[in-house]
Amino acid sequence: MRRILIVGNWKMHKTASEAADLVHRLSVLVPKADGVDVILAPPFTALHAVAQALPRSSPFTLAAQNLHWEDQGAFTGEVSAPMLKELGCRSVIVGHSERRRLFRESDAEINQKVLAALRHELRPILCLGETLPEREAGRTEEVVTGQLLGGLAGTSKDGLLMVTLSYEPVWAIGGGRAAPPGQVTLVHERLRAVIAREWGSEAAQAIRILYGGSVSTTNVGGFLASPQVDGALVGGACLDPQSFATIIGLAQGAAR
Ligand code: PEP
Repeated sequence: MRRILIVGNWKMHKTASEAADLVHRLSVLVPKADGVDVILAPPFTALHAVAQALPRSSPFTLAAQNLHWEDQGAFTGEVSAPMLKELGCRSVIVGHSERRRLFRESDAEINQKVLAALRHELRPILCLGETLPEREAGRTEEVVTGQLLGGLAGTSKDGLLMVTLSYEPVWAIGGGRAAPPGQVTLVHERLRAVIAREWGSEAAQAIRILYGGSVSTTNVGGFLASPQVDGALVGGACLDPQSFATIIGLAQGAAR
């Protein structure tokens, strides 16, 4: 049975001191999270502060929001997997739609990032999702399948077992307009079918597929009610400790 995973993507919010404050408040509200996994993904500059602020028995683990595929070199402004590991990251978000859209990241680059993360035993959280015009043109399945196969090219079955997918329709992110859970379920089923074809049915049953896009305290239960949805990647709602704590509590209530 796949454990529910909740990821909080802080995007470009919170200085290091603000991040420590948020973690202190969240830790009071969520001292334990039995039955579910919870990952915090603050900006690079707050990773150290968050790691320091987490209590020893914290249920939260740490992720970065991006990485470069080389371990080191002349890549001004970039951050590598070994740097993230040393800061205490266990996972890394890769291919978020904001990186694809605003920074023109291609599937080939995203693939290099996934492979770099795996080389360093960082768990990639690979984001996939169609734009509104792609959806309206009936291309959702084609787009997410292309992103899946492009992003995971050259990944072994063992590597795949380290990966989490997050299906995030671009039109649902940040706008308060979440996708209907029924449609999300269909996309997740399709992704699992492609994984079964390429990596085998064991891998398809094991991989966690999250939903992301305007997840809130009021709609998260609807997503987690689907056996195809193994958790949520939460943007805006994770910046408010009370909301994020409520989402984690609802996930615990839905734990399998
Ligand atoms: C996200 O950051 O991937 C996201 C889904 O954001 P929001 O929850 O704000 O839509």
